[in-house]
Amino acid sequence: MFNQAIDHMMIENREHFMIPGDVVASVGVDNSLRHAFLLLTKVRYAKIPVLDNQDHFKGLLSLAMITDQMLGLDDFSLEALDQQCVGDVMETDVVTIDNPYAVENVLHLLVDNPFLPVVQDDGTFTGIVTRREVMKGINYIAHNLDHYYQMTPKEHETE
Ligand code: AMP
Repeated sequence: MFNQAIDHMMIENREHFMIPGDVVASVGVDNSLRHAFLLLTKVRYAKIPVLDNQDHFKGLLSLAMITDQMLGLDDFSLEALDQQCVGDVMETDVVTIDNPYAVENVLHLLVDNPFLPVVQDDGTFTGIVTRREVMKGINYIAHNLDHYYQMTPKEHETE
């Protein structure tokens, strides 16, 4: 069972874990791969969210998804990337969370995912929860748990 004290302290900080959508680097589903290639190179994030023009979450895009396409071509040039759009190569099988999200679930999901897109029921993208932000929260709890809760070790049974 998830520890109640930890759950409570994580919930208190839950809003801080999310990087809001307006400061998340993202790319449009209809953008050309050339545009996406230049953007990903510039922002230096491994993977970024893909949105439509109503801010609905559509998938994730990484540089590797684009360069995979380039490797399959004889002509290894940026011009070739004008022929395809982000929607043609993005990853669509993506785990997302809604807001407010269950902290326990987020901790499980972040084991295998460096970040989780936060998506509303109607598909609107609201931000991302990253491992880094959650690690900051865990660091805070590790330093402050005994300011809020009395911790005494359980006595071990002796024979
Ligand atoms: P971090 O835990 O900060 O290292 O972030 C993990 C991953 O989340 C990064 O590699 C990016 O793919 C993504 N990410 C973090 N911050 C942003 C951001 N502001 N815009 C877009 N993607 C981000």
